[in-house]
Amino acid sequence: SKQPYDDGNIFAKILKGDLPCKKVMENEHVLAFHDINPLAPVHVLVIPKGPYVSWDDFSETASDVEIAALTRAVGEVAKMVGADAQGYRVLSNVGKRAGQEVPHLHIHIFGGQPLGPMLA
Ligand code: 5GP
Repeated sequence: SKQPYDDGNIFAKILKGDLPCKKVMENEHVLAFHDINPLAPVHVLVIPKGPYVSWDDFSETASDVEIAALTRAVGEVAKMVGADAQGYRVLSNVGKRAGQEVPHLHIHIFGGQPLGPMLA
């Protein structure tokens, strides 16, 4: 996607510390926090710290280190929140038609209950 990154989006504000979040983990490249409107008992968002809107954008622009960090964080976070034991789902909406509300790339982790065919 060639959509330019909007510095004023909600996750940008969270990353800058202008908005609070319930943090699960953070490192140089990644932030993970609880979704404000959880759709399952476990609902965590994992985001890269860089200004990426979509996977296309991320793939083209991010360094291998950033890409590795985001991928690694998903498993780490799932384990940290206990989703690991019961099974969990990883999902990412890209574009308005897919339900992407926040134009900063993010990965949802759902768990803590049996999961139906779709969530979010
Ligand atoms: P999307 O629909 O873009 O895939 O997912 C965006 C997610 O961000 C939604 O699940 C929504 O509840 C969550 N969200 C929106 N605003 C905030 C916020 O200010 N704080 C947190 N923690 N989550 C948010």
